[in-house]
Amino acid sequence: MRQDPLIDPFQRPITYLRLSVTDRCDFRCTYCMSEDMTFLPKKDLLSLEELDRVASAFIGLGVRKLRVTGGEPLVRRDILTFFRKMTRHLESGALDELTLTTNGSQLARFAGDLAAAGVRRVNVSLDTLDADRFRALTRRGDLAKVMAGIDAAQAAGLRVKLNAVALKGVNEDELFSLTEFCADRGLDLTWIEVMPMGEDIGSEDRLGQYWPLDDLRARLAERYTLTPLAERTGGPARFVRLEETGQKIGFITPLTHNFCESCNRVRLTCTGELFMCLGQEDRADLRAALRAHPDDDAPLVEAIRDAIRHKPKGHDFDYSRQRADGQMPRHMSHTGG
Ligand code: SAM
Ligand code: SF4
Repeated sequence: MRQDPLIDPFQRPITYLRLSVTDRCDFRCTYCMSEDMTFLPKKDLLSLEELDRVASAFIGLGVRKLRVTGGEPLVRRDILTFFRKMTRHLESGALDELTLTTNGSQLARFAGDLAAAGVRRVNVSLDTLDADRFRALTRRGDLAKVMAGIDAAQAAGLRVKLNAVALKGVNEDELFSLTEFCADRGLDLTWIEVMPMGEDIGSEDRLGQYWPLDDLRARLAERYTLTPLAERTGGPARFVRLEETGQKIGFITPLTHNFCESCNRVRLTCTGELFMCLGQEDRADLRAALRAHPDDDAPLVEAIRDAIRHKPKGHDFDYSRQRADGQMPRHMSHTGG
């Protein structure tokens, strides 16, 4: 039986869940993790069965888009089992879209199975096309593997979008080469403003690497004709079309307050903490409800409803203050971006 949909106190329907399935990763991107990360004990993570229960509960409450993230989702053992479990919600029509954000390192291995499970689109995070720079940024990544992953995904019929973090003095000089690469390959491209996350990365370094997307966009406009698109995703992305290539370019500016009013999403960490807002610390522990009632989802549903009643109006990032108080102590790999 369908239940009343999730509507927050500001009348925003919650239709999008980002689900982190692991805090682990085979990369250590400098803006995301420290070199010597300590990962969580396995028992703290939601099991595959718990992930199924909680995702299904959200879908029962009206979530129509599920994005699997991490850490690196494809390093979670048996993660395909989870994707295959979600197929039933696509088939029943309860879920419109099952998707993932990945660093691409394992995509060559998984693309076919993901497509078979009903995934139609995948976001691949890639900030540079230079193999040495890539290795330095990710501290261990192999660009050739990611390229093979993109190839495999496209061959499996998946639509691929690249996500690139805009980093001043790091990939500024690749604005046009990345754009052309995506145009040649038929990939959409979204630029993300770097956010102050994690204890060591709200530092001077991160502020120094902050490349405002207004500037990036102005530079793009020097070479291409940009037509703003009305498309909205309920998130912090805005889109333009490059008339010369026909491709769609997105800009994710999480630091500006221009999207909170239409925010349709919540994030669940791999330990079952529900964050109602990427920029705020308020959270609800859904794992407690899952584990205290292994055979009854009613308390879980109540815990979700209760959490949504506390979804805040907006977030509190602010680089302009150039101080630590707008910074988040948590890593993106924990909440999944
Ligand atoms: N490992 C997967 C990947 O890299 O695509 C999924 C998880 S990752 C945390 C999700 C996204 O967050 C990636 O596109 C990554 O570039 C982005 N990200 C990580 N740290 C960030 C930061 N400090 N500021 C902005 N974006 C960040
Ligand atoms: Fe791993 Fe993704 Fe974070 Fe890079 S951004 S360290 S690939 S979780």
